[in-house]
Amino acid sequence: MFRATIGISLFLVTLLASAQEWDFTLHKHQSGMPGPTLLVIGGIQGDEPGGFNAASLLTTDYSIQRGEVWVVPNLNFESIIKRSRGVHGDMNRKFKDITQKDPEYQLVQKIKKIIRDEQVDVILNLHDGSGFYRPKYYDRLHGPQRWGQSLIIDQAELPAIQYGQLENIAEAIVAHANGYIKNKEHRYHVKNTETRLGNREMEKTLTYYAIQNNKAAFGVEASKSFGTHYRAYYHLQMIESFMQYLGIDYQREFELTINSVKHRIDNNIQVALYEKKMFFDLRNVRDRLRYVPMKKGEPIDFSASNPLIAVLDKDRYYNVRYGNRSVTKLLPQYFDFDNSLKAINLVIDGTEREVQLGDIISVQEKFQVNTSKDYRVNVIGFTRPGLRSEQGVMIKRSDIARRYSVDQQGKLFRVEVYRDHYFCGMVLIDFSQRPVAAVSSQQADTSL
Ligand SMILES: [Zn+2]
Repeated sequence: MFRATIGISLFLVTLLASAQEWDFTLHKHQSGMPGPTLLVIGGIQGDEPGGFNAASLLTTDYSIQRGEVWVVPNLNFESIIKRSRGVHGDMNRKFKDITQKDPEYQLVQKIKKIIRDEQVDVILNLHDGSGFYRPKYYDRLHGPQRWGQSLIIDQAELPAIQYGQLENIAEAIVAHANGYIKNKEHRYHVKNTETRLGNREMEKTLTYYAIQNNKAAFGVEASKSFGTHYRAYYHLQMIESFMQYLGIDYQREFELTINSVKHRIDNNIQVALYEKKMFFDLRNVRDRLRYVPMKKGEPIDFSASNPLIAVLDKDRYYNVRYGNRSVTKLLPQYFDFDNSLKAINLVIDGTEREVQLGDIISVQEKFQVNTSKDYRVNVIGFTRPGLRSEQGVMIKRSDIARRYSVDQQGKLFRVEVYRDHYFCGMVLIDFSQRPVAAVSSQQADTSL
């Protein structure tokens, strides 16, 4: 867990996203109380953001009080980041046969092992599907040819396992979820693909692999007719219906409405660099941030507030990506790093406080940095002629050139600390008086 500022902790996950390694992450919400284990998988196809954003929120914004919820929010991470259905073909057709030469061979083997884990009781694979599934043809967008707003089963039952009454369970879940959906067009239907009876396409899918390994599995489809946040909202509603059905107790950090889902997706963009020597809140960030201190000759080291964030090395700059979106470019300035300093003293609106490097600090009016003379302070965008270091100077928002802010609103500024020509770390000063990042209290479990 990483403390970003007093009283607020942020979920931070460390992700590997070098060109060769596009690993997914497994997050285990463990309650310590006996109960079933639900495995939720998002992002098997990179162009279905409703599913992977819902799974990401399940990772960062939920806690579990009974039973367990395991989440893989970014199964096909490379395709998510590259905005492709499947950079190496459709991953959801690789569960029957796959050659060792397939670039996704290791990933598929790894998720198969998680699926077969004896603790896993029920599996949900989240998708965004076209139109609206209906058992009978209604029109081009509504009929058996469509997938949106459906709960998919491969067969009616899987005898001899606890949650093997797939059709009964699916009908119960759909009835429950539909109770919350006023708009009739948006209501879910159960779709049975009868895979065992010769459905050659569905035989190759993740859910059918699970079924063949005696795991209760469901495909959950939100409609591509909706925007991303709307789809994620419906996905979360379905996931919660499953958790309630299974007796898994949970808490979520936001109200489940379309607006708050959108707000959480749009605002949960924080990145820490180099063991949190720097912490960037990238809400409404500028297109590019210049002169970001980076370590010479080493791959970038970062962690992020959600598992859909990647920082890609583009040679001359780093591209911060979040799911299907491009967030900003970091233009590096290379330094050797100094580890001698962990915190600095700041006078914030008249009150002196010790602040950790890597913190974000809310300031109403003015601040002043106090460090020993061994260190040099650089408030990015502030200059005073003849001043080599900016410690001991009381600085107001209006003293800093707005174009140097991190955010587009001109409220968020960098304070960097150096010793000689070594970089020590950064503190972010936030003049917006907005609450700092909505909170999530989960511990990141990035095992596997
Ligand atoms: Zn899909």
